[in-house]
Amino acid sequence: MKAFALVLGTHNSSKKKELVRLLAPLGFTLLTLEDFPNALQVEETGTTFAENATLKAVQQAKHLRHWVLGEDSGLAVDALGGGPGVNSARFAGPNATDEKNNDVLLEKLSSVPPEERTAYYTCHATLADPLGTVRFDCEDRCSGRIRFERAGKAGFGYDPLFEIPEYHLTFGELGDAVKAILSHRARAIRRLIPALIQLAQAEHWQPVRNC
Ligand code: IMP
Repeated sequence: MKAFALVLGTHNSSKKKELVRLLAPLGFTLLTLEDFPNALQVEETGTTFAENATLKAVQQAKHLRHWVLGEDSGLAVDALGGGPGVNSARFAGPNATDEKNNDVLLEKLSSVPPEERTAYYTCHATLADPLGTVRFDCEDRCSGRIRFERAGKAGFGYDPLFEIPEYHLTFGELGDAVKAILSHRARAIRRLIPALIQLAQAEHWQPVRNC
């Protein structure tokens, strides 16, 4: 069996962990940017998730000469006109942490009633080949609402505040296994998988039995 190597083009260790969980069953060789000391730190200058995912995939693929999966994601809160959106990682400013971002979100929504705290996560995934050509891209969402207080320790980012209405629990409480089914990232990767398998097979990759 020939290995098909895919580089996960993210420096975010929590995202990387989720992507590995979602893609590992396929049997590809999954590499991360830590495998490449010369990997780029791609500037996210786009104004949409699609633009940023494409920048991450294309620039890194050309530089590393590998297949690269670029991923950009974030939170859109209806009461904030879709914010923080592409600025989700830096909502509290240039030195933002998840803790500070959550504090800012709670503060901005302090007077917003429960029925108006609707939100959704978006994930855009872009696959570039070793020449830097985009071969597939897709996007998906996960709907929820923003709590008044943090709950649960699982996940990352806004997960302690992001409640899945059907469960009355946040991703922080639901844990990694449930998030791997319901999240925006899980949904986007499920869209990507058939195309990824087809492209890998064209590179003479053999599927792993029973995957
Ligand atoms: P990116 O690295 O520019 O894509 O920024 C992603 C940011 O969006 C993260 O730093 C989080 O603040 C937020 N985000 C994206 N996906 C998730 C998730 O699955 N849970 C919680 N926050 C997320």
